[in-house]
Amino acid sequence: MKVATPKELTHDERRVAVVPETATRLTGAGLEVAVQAGAGAGAFIADEAYQQAGVKVITHAADLLKDADAVLKVQAPLPSEVELLPDRALLISFLQPATQGDIVKALARRGVTAFSLELLPRISRAQSMDALSSQASAAGYKAVLMAGERLSKFFPMMMTAAGTVAPARVMVMGAGVAGLQAIATARRLGAVVSAYDVRPAVKEEVQSLGATFIELPLEAQEGEGGYAREQSEEFLRQQRQLIGEHIAKSDVVITTAAVPGRRAPLLVTGDMVKGMRPGSVIVDLAAETGGNVELTEAGKEVDVNGVTIIGTRNVPSTMPLTTSQLFARNVANLLLHLVKDGKLALDFDDEITKGACVTHGGEIVNERAKQAVSAA
Ligand code: NAD
Repeated sequence: MKVATPKELTHDERRVAVVPETATRLTGAGLEVAVQAGAGAGAFIADEAYQQAGVKVITHAADLLKDADAVLKVQAPLPSEVELLPDRALLISFLQPATQGDIVKALARRGVTAFSLELLPRISRAQSMDALSSQASAAGYKAVLMAGERLSKFFPMMMTAAGTVAPARVMVMGAGVAGLQAIATARRLGAVVSAYDVRPAVKEEVQSLGATFIELPLEAQEGEGGYAREQSEEFLRQQRQLIGEHIAKSDVVITTAAVPGRRAPLLVTGDMVKGMRPGSVIVDLAAETGGNVELTEAGKEVDVNGVTIIGTRNVPSTMPLTTSQLFARNVANLLLHLVKDGKLALDFDDEITKGACVTHGGEIVNERAKQAVSAA
């Protein structure tokens, strides 16, 4: 079985789906691994490092992909890349079926068996393959550093000869994987941290990290499988009203709230931003899915009355070495789950295989993806 990883073509994507360590694991399992020349350059992994791990380095994507049995990528393929995939090849990548309907249809037409990492079931057996979690965790960490860099004051309390400096107040909205990592990072830097989430189940996790859980007198709709559900407009309106005073007291607000397959909920209005002290910072990790903050501009940093709103896209790609290592391990674990004795052995009774497979045998086989594609 030949496994191939082309260079990522999406603008600003520095990660790579195979690193030398995971290539060694795959070859150990009887697979052949090849990458396109320069595939690891964005993550500071040289072609020679791949060659030393027994990986073939091929100059052109077309030559690399023409006889590939499995293609591992970070971002969904572009239309030009779909054309290069051999019929019946296996593809593992983020696919975003909700926004990539045409690509999903094109993959089905070519008979590609495509796995979308976003659709991987969040069960304990799949944790080692969970790229959403590994990348969200990196984003949560980096969000705090980005905020610290722009913030006009210290994070920790400081006792200096010139007097005591009060610690920064950080508020995290959405305490899922990214939010919890943001809380932990802000605490390590010495900030006073509070957090809010519509899922009351996260209260203990938030507290165990040394942060205060903000409880609002509001009844949220419960979701399924540990996820939040989309809340009503009325709920979100009341939430914004009640959370306003907490935001006004914060030096840093990090928003990570998301509902799978939906636009990010609007948590912070323009007026709420204007209520914050000049010199404060907001990092909106939901910028790419519509933003949790009304004034966020995806991919930009904006200044609103002295408050900086950071809407950086693809934050995991800004720490490409670690995020590539984690991503590559997730993908290798999923690939090895689908392979037996060096050959592809798909078992559609398996929850992981069935849950994450989007296209197979010329059709879109996943119900969630079918709905997303037809809704788009
Ligand atoms: P996510 O990225 O979909 O959402 C981030 C957070 O935003 C969630 O905690 C959600 O409750 C919150 N949110 C949504 N609407 C909100 C609103 N209006 N106001 C405030 N917060 C709001 O979620 P995620 O981080 O990918 O994961 C969520 C949960 O999934 C985890 O905490 C965990 O329980 C579960 N999970 C399980 C596994 C596993 O078992 N393998 C792996 C990862 C995650």
